[in-house]
Amino acid sequence: MSQFLDPKTALEHLSTYEDRDGLSAAQLMSSIKHGGLTYNDFLLLPGHIDFPASVVSTESRITRRVVLKTPFMSSPMDTVTEKAMAINMALLGGIGVIHHNQSAEEQAAMVRAVKRHENGFISDPVVLGPDDTVADVLDIKARLGFCGIPITSTGSLGGQLLGIVTSRDIQFHDPSTPLKTIMTTDLVTAPSGVTLLEANNVLRDCKKGKLPIVDASGRLVSLLARSDLLKNQNFPLSSKRPDSKQLYAAAAIGTRLADRDRLALLVEAGLDIVILDSSQGNSIYQIEMIQWIKQKWPDLEVVAGNVVTREQAAKLIHAGADALRVGMGSGSICITQEVMAVGRPQATAVYQVAEFASKFGVPVIADGGISNVGHIVKALAMGASAVMMGGLLAGTEEAPGEYFYHEGKRVKAYRGMGSIEAMEQRSVGAKAPGPQPVRQGKGGPKVNGAKETGNAATARYFSETSAVKVAQGVSGDVQDKGSIHKFLPYLHTGLQHSLQDAGQQSIAALQEAVRAGVVRFELRTASAQVEGGVHGLHSYTKRLFA
Ligand code: GDP
Ligand code: GDP
Ligand code: 5GP
Repeated sequence: MSQFLDPKTALEHLSTYEDRDGLSAAQLMSSIKHGGLTYNDFLLLPGHIDFPASVVSTESRITRRVVLKTPFMSSPMDTVTEKAMAINMALLGGIGVIHHNQSAEEQAAMVRAVKRHENGFISDPVVLGPDDTVADVLDIKARLGFCGIPITSTGSLGGQLLGIVTSRDIQFHDPSTPLKTIMTTDLVTAPSGVTLLEANNVLRDCKKGKLPIVDASGRLVSLLARSDLLKNQNFPLSSKRPDSKQLYAAAAIGTRLADRDRLALLVEAGLDIVILDSSQGNSIYQIEMIQWIKQKWPDLEVVAGNVVTREQAAKLIHAGADALRVGMGSGSICITQEVMAVGRPQATAVYQVAEFASKFGVPVIADGGISNVGHIVKALAMGASAVMMGGLLAGTEEAPGEYFYHEGKRVKAYRGMGSIEAMEQRSVGAKAPGPQPVRQGKGGPKVNGAKETGNAATARYFSETSAVKVAQGVSGDVQDKGSIHKFLPYLHTGLQHSLQDAGQQSIAALQEAVRAGVVRFELRTASAQVEGGVHGLHSYTKRLFA
């Protein structure tokens, strides 16, 4: 007679245990009675795998009305997100938030570049008239990056379509040449009312670069570009508005009166999501700003923050926020907790705010302190709908600034927006910081009128009127990470594998399973953290992806 139970009863036998192995999220949070947890303080216990990692969906609703195929956002910081980062983040399925430590005009131009980058029907194509010249086309090319220009009788949309000029037409001509002498007049067009699918088929079959759409009297209505078909094919995850197929554009502003004018320019450029950028979002300024925006542009998505408590969150939800940005003092460049003695460990902050905000259908963005794929999955498990990353992306090619060498390593500058350098300087992106970007205390070009209005960085930390600037961030550098065209797919695939280990086929399934207490957690002691890292080797190289 065996002393052991019959292996066939193993599954039923589980039910003799009072509770499942490990802790629910709520138990995890209350397991340290009067403290908060960071991402490194806990782990998820593995689940059951019955699907390949490639089928895991990372789709997520990052604001009330915006759903992305990946939950990745880049921070509105002048060493992280300008035009290149914003366009490429969106192409790869995330979203980049354009910083506001630059003039409103510069920021609006970046928003416009994102919106112009990809289209379905281009509803407001740049148009010229027959008497305009090659020089006009070259100017458009320099400013906007394309030169496939329809020519109409009036020189504007709605005029009679006469021809089209493309890069080949202008190649060998003097800038003063009038377009009527060189334009192509033998055109393939499609009638207005055609669906995008049909128009794309015409474009595919006719092998032209552009397809003008005209009404019954031959007047230009819109335009389709062949290159957009390729972009759609090459970037299947891209973050686009379902109606226009334009990339989503997001940008940050402050909460001063001047920011209302700034926002008007950004909206005119096509902005979809505005982020109210304050280190402590629970302020009368932010509440008034949300209410003003909601009344003026009800369709603009407003991300409020930052917050780390339910009480802060409630005020901003009440004011009308479409998402909350959560984090105070957890960023890699941040010294807020040290200097201000306020803040909260990030995993607890995300859990508590998300638990509350989810009741109102308001998504939460976990901002700061993400330094690996594991942190992303933990933030999502704590209820976040997206993660915002600064330091993790600052070393990529698409981040502003040039690479330089520091102690033998190829690096890029990365600095907190509350660092003295950022509060004193303008954007480093427009002008590369060069080989000595960490100019402690020296500062670079001052923001125009910095004295009168303060710059974006001082405003974020409410210190524009202070005689002494108190830093809440540091300035440093991060190692080269190559292009985000490699790095973001690594984060995406890593996230899919992690969700697979947890036995969850999507972010939504993960969060539901966390709520139901099916996904289990465990605290990590200090020695568990040592055990979980590489240990016991004489030396090693750490390559994260290939
Ligand atoms: P679905 O495929 O039914 O979900 O519909 P979509 O709205 O995604 O696509 C409709 C058509 O538009 C298809 O032919 C797509 O290939 C095409 N399409 C999707 N994105 C773009 C884009 O950015 N530009 C262009 N020109 N076509 C697109
Ligand atoms: P082009 O041949 O120089 O015009 O450039 P491509 O056709 O290769 O790329 C044009 C890109 O710019 C496409 O993604 C368009 O959607 C985008 N775009 C945005 N606005 C306009 C516009 O007004 N005219 C044109 N031609 N392209 C535009
Ligand atoms: P990271 O991804 O590098 O850990 O953190 C980026 C986040 O840190 C940003 O999205 C922003 O919320 C926050 N942050 C940026 N600059 C500063 C700063 O100077 N001080 C503090 N406290 N937080 C900052």
